[in-house]
Amino acid sequence: MTACESDLHPDTPPESGISLPGGRIRSDPGTLMDRLVQAPGRAERLTHLERVPAREARTRPWPSWVHPEVRAAFESRGVTEPWLHQVAGAEHAHAGRHVVLATGTASGKTLGYLLPALTALASSTGSRRGSARTATVLYLSPTKALAQDQFALLRDLDLSGVRVTTYDGDSSMEERDWARDHAHYVLTNPDMLHRTLLPGHARWAKFLAGLRYVVVDECHHYRGVFGSHVAQILRRLRRICRHYGADPVFVLSSATVAEPQVAAGRLVGAPVEAVTEDGSPRGETALALWEPPLTRLTGENGAPVRRTATAEVADLLADLVIEGVRTLAFVRSRRGSETVAMTTRDHVARVDTGLARRVAAYRGGYLPEERRELERKLKNGSLLALSATNALELGIDISGLDAVLMAGFPGTRAAMWQQVGRAGRDRQGAVGVLVARDDPLDTYLVHHPQALLGRPVESTVFDPANPYVLGPHLCAAASELPLTEDDFTLFGDTTAEAVDALTDAGLLRRRPRGWFWTRRDRASDLADIRSTGGTQVRVVEQGTGRMLGTVDAGASHSTVHPGAVYLHQGVTYLVQTLDLDESAALVERAEPDYSTTAREQTDIRVLETEREQRWGEANLFLGSVEVTSHVVAFLRRRLVSGEVLGEDPLDLPPRTLTTKAVWWTLTQQQLAATGLQPADVPGAAHAAEHASIGLLPLIATCDRWDIGGVSTAFHEDTGEMTVFVYDGHPGGAGFAERGFTDAGEWLTMTRDAIAACDCDEGCPSCVQSPKCGNANNPLDKRGAVAVLDALLAGRMLE
Ligand SMILES: [Zn+2]
Ligand SMILES: [Zn+2]
Repeated sequence: MTACESDLHPDTPPESGISLPGGRIRSDPGTLMDRLVQAPGRAERLTHLERVPAREARTRPWPSWVHPEVRAAFESRGVTEPWLHQVAGAEHAHAGRHVVLATGTASGKTLGYLLPALTALASSTGSRRGSARTATVLYLSPTKALAQDQFALLRDLDLSGVRVTTYDGDSSMEERDWARDHAHYVLTNPDMLHRTLLPGHARWAKFLAGLRYVVVDECHHYRGVFGSHVAQILRRLRRICRHYGADPVFVLSSATVAEPQVAAGRLVGAPVEAVTEDGSPRGETALALWEPPLTRLTGENGAPVRRTATAEVADLLADLVIEGVRTLAFVRSRRGSETVAMTTRDHVARVDTGLARRVAAYRGGYLPEERRELERKLKNGSLLALSATNALELGIDISGLDAVLMAGFPGTRAAMWQQVGRAGRDRQGAVGVLVARDDPLDTYLVHHPQALLGRPVESTVFDPANPYVLGPHLCAAASELPLTEDDFTLFGDTTAEAVDALTDAGLLRRRPRGWFWTRRDRASDLADIRSTGGTQVRVVEQGTGRMLGTVDAGASHSTVHPGAVYLHQGVTYLVQTLDLDESAALVERAEPDYSTTAREQTDIRVLETEREQRWGEANLFLGSVEVTSHVVAFLRRRLVSGEVLGEDPLDLPPRTLTTKAVWWTLTQQQLAATGLQPADVPGAAHAAEHASIGLLPLIATCDRWDIGGVSTAFHEDTGEMTVFVYDGHPGGAGFAERGFTDAGEWLTMTRDAIAACDCDEGCPSCVQSPKCGNANNPLDKRGAVAVLDALLAGRMLE
């Protein structure tokens, strides 16, 4: 979620809505777009313009059960009547049904859960009956910043007798004690629940016994391995609540995602109702898809190179600033966001030096007061443009802007609409521009608008049954209260098996009353919920000893090997040594004029086939695999041009990963029918593998860096040409599974993306990959289309 959800005023215009210097769009979104494409050469870059019509507000009367004081507090803030989705969500929760509200950015989902939650608190604290148990509410958010914003909102509502507090890593001992003993509404995050609140539940007995609602805000952030962890933490919470006689109702808020009911149900581990009909008003939105032009530069293997998305965004941002349009630009990296702000300032200063001061970059780690100050400046128009990384890092209330620029597809359609939703609330028109980066997914999207706009957004993917996640949480649960067979259904089908394995490993001990955690260390330390599994390698600055960050052990050989260029907050370092025993990489500040890419040899072994589908002669499989990767060397490439400067050998041991994969095979006869020469098959399979990794994020909510692939003209386990795509995390995160389930759609898009690319021999927009361990060699673009055609033709026969 974005903090803007905390804005509850559906019927009052934003405070800057009148006419402030450099405020509003002065013309409708269509006219503004026309002006952006007027510059020479620009018209060809606009590949599609989608106009999403305005939507009228739909309201419903206040539910009769809403406490008068709660209603009055909202009415005094300008809410005359709630929107229909707010009422629908509130009614489900009040009736005791778990519910997920999956509506747009800035649609006021907050009100949907505050009505039942605050009504329960106001009724309970106001009641004179000493016997009634004081009601409590627990609020969980993926970030601290978001919880701080909720806190500010609740404090402003100022309901008598309702005590609200935040409980996070920054809270002092006194604050923590106070929260536990006195607060009715506690705002925290899954990390605190996992590490502190659940292990110390006895001290929270009174709070937990009264727990009526658990709010899970912005639940679409709980995806992949992190999502699997949070799902298990919520199961532990439900078990502990049951122990204290409480059965809280879960109210979840989510961005608009496909099947919100399924994802929320998986997260909570119980059936959940979904509210998806959005009653909030919106102005017209013009969404432009934009492709930067090719440059004269050439990259790897002579491939053509496009102008960067950040350079293009800086141009557009400068034009918008000069027009007085308040704009937010989303850029992938912090360094990129700094570059966009700097370049934009240079551009606008040529027109009016005063304008340069009205462009800023947002860096993470701001204090709440600093964030408020930025919000204020954007609202009153003294700041016209902000370039920032992603919304999660922002945690800042900046909705109601006029335009949003995106340097690259933000990974999922849900995230894209969240970002576009920052512009144009209420009846204001808005402009969004998605500027493609030079990769297969972005290129595909700007040329296939129906893949972006004509279908529902993707589902949130995670797998609570991942054994690498389940095991540690079963240990944590057993240390909180002995596990019994009654608990097995709650934790899922594979629990009995997992408990046996943990008992055999000596982590749990069986006694008459159940399974116990008998070790002295803290069971909750077994699960690091923010990491993707496995140990972390620390990155330490040589000389100062300052820790810069951590890297997953699984990725350490390819990212912090000796000689690697390491980026931290826009500063470059060179890795001096990688100490595998100490799990530490020592780095030194440097300004090399090159980047590094690891060369890796990867082997894959099929451990077990779980599911299978026949596409004519071809076959598709899902199962568990063991991936062995060996980083053997690295390449140094000149910045900008990508020219290879040299290759240096490395001496690192191989690593193995047990995970889930989806793979497909073609028979010899099918290959022969494509007309490909045997020597072309490895390049064809390799190119198909790269592009399918690039496109999987359109089906599953993952990043191309979350997954890997292996391709071969002949694989020992299948006896045929095989392309594997695997989850990059131990035990899998559900991405390969989603690829298998939606294979037809996924591989059709992959085929079309390659075929539609303008290049001759393959380029970063289609089959080249920035993370290829084989230096993008061999790659056969036309061969990739041929093998995918053969595969998909088989599907038609079924
Ligand atoms: Zn291409
Ligand atoms: Zn490759």
